Amino acid sequence: MKLRSQAVPAFHQSRPIVPCAQCGEALFAPEWSEYFDDRRIRHFWSCDACNYQFETMVCYPGPDAQAA
Ligand SMILES: [Zn+2]
Repeated sequence: MKLRSQAVPAFHQSRPIVPCAQCGEALFAPEWSEYFDDRRIRHFWSCDACNYQFETMVCYPGPDAQAA
């Protein structure tokens, strides 16, 4: 496990805004993001309101997304 050991890259895409899965508080920036490759990013969220923590996966369509 490597937590908080890497710098979070600056947001160059539209910012994700995710409601807390538990209390619905709007979360504007993930605690950190992990890049699997150039199209898949996993965001790790921590809610300031209720301390709930969860992850979301973001997948961007690639130019050659013919492979399943
Ligand atoms: Zn919450």
